[in-house]
Amino acid sequence: MGEREKLLEVKNLKKYFPVKGGVLQRTIGHVKAVDDVSFEIYKGETLGIVGESGSGKSTLGRTILRLLDPTEGQVIFEGDDISTLSNRKMRPYRKDMQMVFQDPFASLNPRMSVGEIIEEPMIVQNTLTKKERKEKVVDLLAKVGLPAEARSKYPHEFSGGQRQRIGIARALTLNPKLIIGDEPVSALDVSVQSQVLNLMGDLQDEFDLTYLFIAHDLSVVKHISDRVGVMYLGKMAEIGPKDKIFENPLHPYTQALLSAVPIPDMERKREKITLKGELPSPSNPPSGCPFHTRCPEAHERCKVELPELLHQGNEQYVACHLYTSEEK
Ligand code: ADP
Ligand code: MG
Repeated sequence: MGEREKLLEVKNLKKYFPVKGGVLQRTIGHVKAVDDVSFEIYKGETLGIVGESGSGKSTLGRTILRLLDPTEGQVIFEGDDISTLSNRKMRPYRKDMQMVFQDPFASLNPRMSVGEIIEEPMIVQNTLTKKERKEKVVDLLAKVGLPAEARSKYPHEFSGGQRQRIGIARALTLNPKLIIGDEPVSALDVSVQSQVLNLMGDLQDEFDLTYLFIAHDLSVVKHISDRVGVMYLGKMAEIGPKDKIFENPLHPYTQALLSAVPIPDMERKREKITLKGELPSPSNPPSGCPFHTRCPEAHERCKVELPELLHQGNEQYVACHLYTSEEK
């Protein structure tokens, strides 16, 4: 592997939501949706982020895009710290970073035609003539596998998979560098999921895209990811190259998530690890390691001391007291 260039760097990022209570609606606590997360994304790669519902994945994506303001920490895009930029100063970065949402129906305006939906970001950006915009709409529709006639139709006239293709076309209009897919195939039928995943893979090559791909299930990110990060209660439990995460998961939580993924080759039989209990509330996370209340291997230290994310070699990092030494 040659020298890799960072596109995005997330440093100690936190996003806390205030919890209000009492008659005076005072802040009585915080939901620590994203709690001290650091990682980087290299140009051209796909970083998959997985974790149960409520682990902070969407909040992470939205905070990176500055749809939410970070509570603390930095988001660095192509070397520029964008974490505290004003709306006006954010504008040139907005076109470089786009989001594809889980529910294309909710994210596409039902009263706008597909042509208008795809054209809208270009009108806002105001760099192309009307004719150029129309040409681009037809071109993008073709790229995502839809006929030119789709232009004059409305979102409800399409299937779920087709709607997600429209959402992807819209995300591509301003030639972004980074696409954050927030469970973009989770709402689709399994047969359609792979078609949309394949499309995203093809578009990545064609347009030199970098992906942050969010899913709640490891099987979805398996084929598309170069690296995978596993989130638990707002923190990164483990992150590393995809092959390491799938063949040699270190964190007991990653092992549990992986044990739920069906494996095609019958030689390696895995025990399904069932986690006890529910995901604790991020407004009242457990002390020490946030996973200790459900961890089959928890010991005394885990109840009191938060494990750091440490390098275990081969670019695999894990936050777990079972692995203490930091390898160089
Ligand atoms: P995920 O995408 O992994 O399911 P989210 O980022 O949506 O997780 O949510 C993480 C936590 O933050 C959840 O407990 C959720 O209820 C809470 N949360 C998300 N958005 C808000 C918000 N705008 N206000 C208050 N709490 C929120
Ligand atoms: Mg989510």
